[in-house]
Amino acid sequence: MGACLSSPPQAAGRYSAPVYYPPPQTSGPGQQFVLFFPDKAMPCRSFLEGRPCRRRNCQYSHEMTSLCHFVFQLRQARQTISCCVYTITCREISEELVDAHRRGVQVRVVTEDEKMDDKGSKTMNLRSQGISVRKDGRGLMHHKFAVVDGRTVLNGSFNWTRSAVLNNRENVVISQDPNLARAFTAEFERLWRAFARNR
Ligand SMILES: [Zn+2]
Repeated sequence: MGACLSSPPQAAGRYSAPVYYPPPQTSGPGQQFVLFFPDKAMPCRSFLEGRPCRRRNCQYSHEMTSLCHFVFQLRQARQTISCCVYTITCREISEELVDAHRRGVQVRVVTEDEKMDDKGSKTMNLRSQGISVRKDGRGLMHHKFAVVDGRTVLNGSFNWTRSAVLNNRENVVISQDPNLARAFTAEFERLWRAFARNR
């Protein structure tokens, strides 16, 4: 992990949500940066989709927030997204996982069984969309990480919830360090096998 931590790259312009992401700073192996929450507002759907917002007095954000960076990292996936998360209630993230699944990315989720039935939990919805979800057994599944294409690790304190986006002091380190990616991938595969019965 030789690279220094830097601020996330900024997109230029109010309506220029990047179609291609990440920018050059994060494209090499060993590159990493950190996102901090809370965000000031949830992102406007138009911004996330790279379209100009035509709503008058739109209250949502039209600039790159930490959640935007997080979502655009998932959008980079071409082959696999493997995630271990305590809970998912953030619509923007769950929709991104469903989109990835629809474009042929293998999306797998291990989650905390006690959280699956919570109000607002999106994991049953992910499952109904055809995404493979497995629940943990005894003890808490308290990880909050994702590995994209076996190459990019997103990991930190951030729970994938709207409440965490807007209210909590959280961090997510995004890294393309090969050793870290290998370690998280191995742990994911170990857990995936361990919970093979919990579907
Ligand atoms: Zn808007």
